[in-house]
Amino acid sequence: MVRRQNPPSQKQISSRQRTGQCEIGMARRAGPAGYQHRCKGNSARLAHHTKRHPVPRRCAPNRRSSTRRITPSVRPSTALRRRGPPPLVSRMEPPIISRGRGQGTQHRARTKVQLAARECGGFTRPLLAGPRYTNGSRTDPTGHRSKAAAAKEFCQWYSELPPWELVVFSGGSQGKDGIGYGYVVMQQGQERPLASGKGKLDDCSVVFDAEALGAWCGTERALQVASPGTNVTLCADNTAAIWCLRGTASETSQWAFLAFHKAVREWSGNVQVKWSPGHMGIRGNELADGLAKEGQKSAPDLEAGPTLAGVRAGIRFRLRQIRLHHWLKNRNGLSRRYRAWKLRYDTRQHPAELEILSRPQLHHFLAIRTGHGDFSWYHRKFKHGSAELKCSCGAAKTPEHIVMCRKVLGCFDKWP
Ligand SMILES: [Zn+2]
Repeated sequence: MVRRQNPPSQKQISSRQRTGQCEIGMARRAGPAGYQHRCKGNSARLAHHTKRHPVPRRCAPNRRSSTRRITPSVRPSTALRRRGPPPLVSRMEPPIISRGRGQGTQHRARTKVQLAARECGGFTRPLLAGPRYTNGSRTDPTGHRSKAAAAKEFCQWYSELPPWELVVFSGGSQGKDGIGYGYVVMQQGQERPLASGKGKLDDCSVVFDAEALGAWCGTERALQVASPGTNVTLCADNTAAIWCLRGTASETSQWAFLAFHKAVREWSGNVQVKWSPGHMGIRGNELADGLAKEGQKSAPDLEAGPTLAGVRAGIRFRLRQIRLHHWLKNRNGLSRRYRAWKLRYDTRQHPAELEILSRPQLHHFLAIRTGHGDFSWYHRKFKHGSAELKCSCGAAKTPEHIVMCRKVLGCFDKWP
């Protein structure tokens, strides 16, 4: 608790000035003696404060101990684990009822943070990891080639591989049964895959997550069966996943990418990532795709929970539903004329007319849509006595007249 003091009187100030004291009660002495005196004064002041005061808390020794200091050599993800989750995280869970009815259970979610957290599901929280740059991580996996050219080149590359090297094909797919992933580990010259696997993801996921999981599970399996020092090539048809496998991990399914990066770092041989264009008759790709489709129908993996991208997609879908519902409910109050335009309610996209029309054209356009403008009925309704009710051609001014007027039709070619 901070002790409030009354401001010093003029008499007190003049007496302090005479004796050389500054306002906060420390002597204005020069040299080491003055420094020591100030230190003693500060210690005495700190001793007066309670432990909850922010200044004594900042003097606590553990704040400055070397174990808590984050040196640049510590990776950001490690630093985050040490410091714990950000402060909002602790406010996501409603508190526990401490006494009375319902003791020991959680309170109802009330705050914005608690309500938002309830919508998020239990996806794995992404870590604050730094960007990762490797050879080729900044180049387009497709190399700006067509799928046909890339497939031909791929088949050529595959046929020239030494028979002891391992090639992993992975893929993900989404169907009405859910989202699945599949992988095969193959060797050049062998008809049958060395190993294969498939699985199903949580319904709250996207295909990208399946691609990530398939790539990691396939690589993990290949490194298990490979003898040390063997070169392994992971072939995926999803370029977005390849960007993350070669470079920086995405936030969704981040754990799979980070596990892949760690495995690559620790493997004694060389692990490469290659683009194998999908649906181009590459055998490994077709096998992995088939397994991914079978994976959709298998029992869901108990460990596979919702993913960040899945939760985001779900929330976006619900927002669209809410917006649509709001529009359907509220458009009944609009005029019949305005409803006849059958406009959609979209707050995220610019309407095309804003991009194309000039300001004067837009004025006429909006006047026609709303019916509010230089029109006969409008002037009559609001009793504009001096207003001109007829066009210069002699016809009544209706909202549509601007496009039907014979004078305007003469310059039809100049219309936007
Ligand atoms: Zn006219």
